[in-house]
Amino acid sequence: MRRLDFTNTQVASSETARDINRGVVLNLIRRRQPISRADLARVSGLQRSTVSLITEQLIRENWVVYGPTGRLPRGRRPTFLRLNDRRAIVVADLRPMQCTVAVADVNGRFLSQEAMPTPGDPKTTVKNLIGRIRHQMQLHSDRVFEGVGISVSGRFDLKTEHVVFAPNLKWSGAFDLKGPIEEATGMRVELENAANACVLAEVWFGHAETVRDLVVVTVSEGVGTGIFANGQLSRGLNGMAGEFGHVPLDPNGPLCTCGGKGCWEVYASNRAALRYYSESSLSSDGPSFQDLMQLAEANDALAVKALERMAHALGRGMRMIVAGIAPEEIVVVGEFTRLWDKFGAVIEAEVAKAVLVGKPPRVRPAAAEPSMARLRGTVALVLQKHFGPSMHVEKEQHREARLMARAQ
Ligand SMILES: [Zn+2]
Repeated sequence: MRRLDFTNTQVASSETARDINRGVVLNLIRRRQPISRADLARVSGLQRSTVSLITEQLIRENWVVYGPTGRLPRGRRPTFLRLNDRRAIVVADLRPMQCTVAVADVNGRFLSQEAMPTPGDPKTTVKNLIGRIRHQMQLHSDRVFEGVGISVSGRFDLKTEHVVFAPNLKWSGAFDLKGPIEEATGMRVELENAANACVLAEVWFGHAETVRDLVVVTVSEGVGTGIFANGQLSRGLNGMAGEFGHVPLDPNGPLCTCGGKGCWEVYASNRAALRYYSESSLSSDGPSFQDLMQLAEANDALAVKALERMAHALGRGMRMIVAGIAPEEIVVVGEFTRLWDKFGAVIEAEVAKAVLVGKPPRVRPAAAEPSMARLRGTVALVLQKHFGPSMHVEKEQHREARLMARAQ
């Protein structure tokens, strides 16, 4: 029979409580800075002495610095705390056509960025990325770098640490993007799927503070999905959770980049809208997606029709998400959302038809434009290693930590 060692359990839980409290305080400072220790204690419900111990440690570790001194009516002047924005993160967004490398501080403020065309093979991409990362770091040599965050148009397997699925980058087979960059920069690299990165951006920097079930749908060359369920990012086996874009809706449909036929993204991506347009306009040299949107803005009938078809397909595909996950919110990330006034209602109406019980989920465009959403998500990706998981679980974790502290 397996023996349970309660002594060790006790040690583990007090360490966990300490880590959780540290995360709670760090996240509160991040969101409410500048903030006094008294307010930290009041808002967190932790004892003043606990808050003092944690903040002293955070100041020693250089995560937190003294901010401006606030004034209180009775003449007391508490010292305010804020995050140390000398700490920075290098982030990259790897897309089929373009790759962006940037530097952001711990508050998610971008200090600089540069773009390069994405090479056709992983090896050259890694080499060029390392060059750009080094260059960006040199531009900010006065900062302390926490790590590298990369958002990729593909799926990353945490177990093998390889990118395992990247049909839109047209790189076949699994490849190691993380190892060589870690070796060259001496920093830890965190990789995440672009849609998952957008989920983190919404949860960490966006307006989704109280939402526990949220799905981000990214619409560009393909259609990606990031799932935030029960207050956590769903990664699934091999990091493949959320590939709704490659669910075949019609076995006789057009060929998809994944090798299948009639996948959702074949009907709902930017490429789909371009196909609809070229089919109806009978022109051989089709416009870019940007051109197509401009045409639609100028009320070109064929362009409007093409984007409407895309919007219908997007909404119909979202019914899978509604039926399977029942999110409170579906956030759409993509250039397409610029025309939300024209086409958002089409998507909403399609989604509303899918609801079996209760109200349909809120469908809305993301607060940040697509590349910013992905880059901000990678900032969160690196920071969550230090700050703990998303803020959503914060309240529960905090309650848990207090209960543990009380039990001791
Ligand atoms: Zn597919």
